[in-house]
Amino acid sequence: MNIVIIGAPASGKGTQSSLLANKLGLFHMQTGDLSRELAKKNERIKEIVESGKLIPEEEMTMYVLDYLHTKKPDLKNILFEGFPRFISQYEALEAFLKSKGDDIDAVISLDIEKDEAVRRISSRRICENCSAVYNLLTNPPENTGLCDTCGGKLIQRSDDLPESIEVRFQYYQDNTKKLIDYLDEKGKLIRIDAARPIDTIFEDILAKLEANK
Ligand code: AMP
Repeated sequence: MNIVIIGAPASGKGTQSSLLANKLGLFHMQTGDLSRELAKKNERIKEIVESGKLIPEEEMTMYVLDYLHTKKPDLKNILFEGFPRFISQYEALEAFLKSKGDDIDAVISLDIEKDEAVRRISSRRICENCSAVYNLLTNPPENTGLCDTCGGKLIQRSDDLPESIEVRFQYYQDNTKKLIDYLDEKGKLIRIDAARPIDTIFEDILAKLEANK
């Protein structure tokens, strides 16, 4: 089963994707992490990612397909987080999977209002060492400023800073929102209210996936 999770910045994509990948035994394809890795070796990509913009749509598709070719060549049982974000990326992924006899089985949209997302983003911290994610309000570390797992320093992602947040929402509005409307029209979308506690959202996703079978 191949599943896609899309949603606005801070809609909880990362949290729900990890839970889901664990529960269903899926390979977790996270394009945010892949982009941050690429940014370490490429100044142009670093500037794009840190400012909250999106990597050009076809270029990102190429990185994703390359990555899968190396890490998950059978293309089965993948959870895509943050990809596709454009209609063109969706169509390319769908065509690619179909050419290998597979498909996108479900697309989950985590729906959240911008105010709530911005509130979450401002309290999000990540470990600069192991990338574990914390929220100062809902999931704080035991020791202020330090990661529970590895003791690394907790920092704000550069694209979580106020100037980048606006850019990310604009890109979401201009691109991903169009993909969501497109999939909604096709009846392909599972819509989830993401402004609820983590466990409630997760149970809702599992129930809706079951009903979607
Ligand atoms: P995320 O952690 O999912 O918010 O992604 C962080 C950043 O990675 C984005 O702001 C983009 O710069 C880049 N990125 C991730 N997924 C995509 C995608 N599907 N298309 C273009 N850029 C992406």
